[in-house]
Amino acid sequence: MRILVSNDDGIHAPGIEALEAALARVGEVWVVAPDRERSAVGQSISIHQPLRVRAAGARRWAVDGTPADCIYLALAELMPERPDVVVSGINLGVNLGEDVFYSGTVAAAKEAAFRNIPAFAISQDVHGFARGHGTLEEVPDLGAAAELAAGLAQALGAARPSGGAGAPALPPRTLLNVNVPNTPPLGVRAAPLGVRNYVLEVERRVDPRGRSYYWVGGSASRPADIPGSDCNLLAEGYVTVTPLRLDLTARDLLDTAGALAAAALVPRRA
Ligand code: MN
Repeated sequence: MRILVSNDDGIHAPGIEALEAALARVGEVWVVAPDRERSAVGQSISIHQPLRVRAAGARRWAVDGTPADCIYLALAELMPERPDVVVSGINLGVNLGEDVFYSGTVAAAKEAAFRNIPAFAISQDVHGFARGHGTLEEVPDLGAAAELAAGLAQALGAARPSGGAGAPALPPRTLLNVNVPNTPPLGVRAAPLGVRNYVLEVERRVDPRGRSYYWVGGSASRPADIPGSDCNLLAEGYVTVTPLRLDLTARDLLDTAGALAAAALVPRRA
């Protein structure tokens, strides 16, 4: 089995290392990852600048682009054959609720799902671990997450029909989002996305020329208390797994949307 690994913490992140070690026991591991941290870049791809790719070992490349760029390049150029499964992570920090829209980790898995390759994102809760110099001073034990990733990669990769045999474990245009607690997991729970309610905060500063600049993206959130949601279950000590669809269409609102837009459309006379 060929397994493609990426992330948004960069190719030197401990999460990549943990995945490579665990996944090597399951299949042939290929790594195509950003050359530095690109967290929260979402699904962006670099259409207005060239991408540089640097070999970083056997079947390993560092790309000066986004996680989505990495998967795109891996599939279109770097890998001689399609991977059987794509694993993104292990991200240092959870990806719960609306995080899945911002997360580069989840985006890498989504990019694979666009190409109908089984994929999942996996993230480790690092709450309580001290940060310094922009990174974690102490890395949490990624053993549980890495083992889980290996088992899941094996299941998803093997489920992919080869020669028509077997049904896929996941339908096309879907992926999994996995979060691992920072305590020994009580078990695994399938969970819908919760709501993190990030505090809308901005820090304004003034540069040496007297102009204002801004830092956005505060980390404080007040998760909504939704029993059974990924936010709640992770806080309760469970591994959460959320199936995601690429199709965001709110089918129950098609009529409403049509009526709204139809009423707004100003007829043009010839
Ligand atoms: Mn990250």
